[in-house]
Amino acid sequence: MPKINDTSIYLSVVIPVYNEELTLRKLAKRLFPVLDSLKKPYEVIFTNDGSVDDSWLILKSLQVEYEGKITLVDFNANYGQHMAIMAGFSHVKGKVVMTMDADLQNPPEEIPAMLKKMDEGYDLVGGYRANRHENDHIVRRYCSKLMNIIRSKVTNIQMRDQGCMLRAYSRAIVDMITQTVETSTFIPALAFKLAARPTEIEVKHEARSEGTSNYSIYELIRVTLDLFTGFSLVPLHIFSIGGGIISFLSVILCGYLMLRRLIIGPEADGMFTLFAILFFLMGICITGIGIVGEYVGRTYQAVCRRPRYLIREVLDHTHERQES
Ligand code: UDP
Ligand code: MG
Repeated sequence: MPKINDTSIYLSVVIPVYNEELTLRKLAKRLFPVLDSLKKPYEVIFTNDGSVDDSWLILKSLQVEYEGKITLVDFNANYGQHMAIMAGFSHVKGKVVMTMDADLQNPPEEIPAMLKKMDEGYDLVGGYRANRHENDHIVRRYCSKLMNIIRSKVTNIQMRDQGCMLRAYSRAIVDMITQTVETSTFIPALAFKLAARPTEIEVKHEARSEGTSNYSIYELIRVTLDLFTGFSLVPLHIFSIGGGIISFLSVILCGYLMLRRLIIGPEADGMFTLFAILFFLMGICITGIGIVGEYVGRTYQAVCRRPRYLIREVLDHTHERQES
């Protein structure tokens, strides 16, 4: 188990890695000089999230190169970015914990500015991407803008940019996060809920120089659903209230049709209108069942109490070899 009370380390940087063989060395070349310039003890924890390329070998060689500074956690399979961060969190030793992406989209040079904010007494410093409009694809940009708006309305989490993983957390928040039992979670949102004094600062955002984003449209939809069902019951409320209103209106329509039949006589026309209305209502029902299913699924996972991820091995920077 990690040494929880080791307070000599000031900063722990947690980086999830999934098929990043092309960027890891570049990342190290930029990250370590920045961390060295802080002149405080630090560690960097890389979680290899089941990469199928040479990422793990590169990470091991970096660990040798930057001796005593890197801890490696190796998953036995791919559990996703947030679980990789979660596993990193459970091995941190620092007082302040930062997360960043391995693909160099988060410039390491922004780290000192975020730490300065932490020193001012904030317990969570989120980054929001300044120049993302220049670098990201237009469809993606608008999708994430729309998602940010819906998310802040539905979950009541006021974050300018939930997609930016360059963030600093107090150790207390990180410890609370690792104690949660949720099988799928969205770390920035969870941290925001747990923070007492959160703030946000503008950070630079670079286009991916190598490889492509590891997120498919399907995964983006999944993350969005996880976020909604993990942090809000509003989708359920919308369906119960919406269902109630629709039922009420249907009763009025039935009453009207009954009266019409008594006064004017039976009607045979309007069949297709009826179909249209039926399909509409069926669509709503199916979506509603799907949303309920999302919550049932989460409950199921929580009840199963399966491990959220399986760690193959941990190569600690203090050279304690831990296996599980
Ligand atoms: N990542 C991960 N597991 C995954 C997908 C991504 O650990 O299943 C890591 C990836 O290596 C990178 C970060 O999460 O460090 C962000 O991933 P990506 O750049 O693909 O996402 P985007 O920038 O498009 O949001
Ligand atoms: Mg990226």
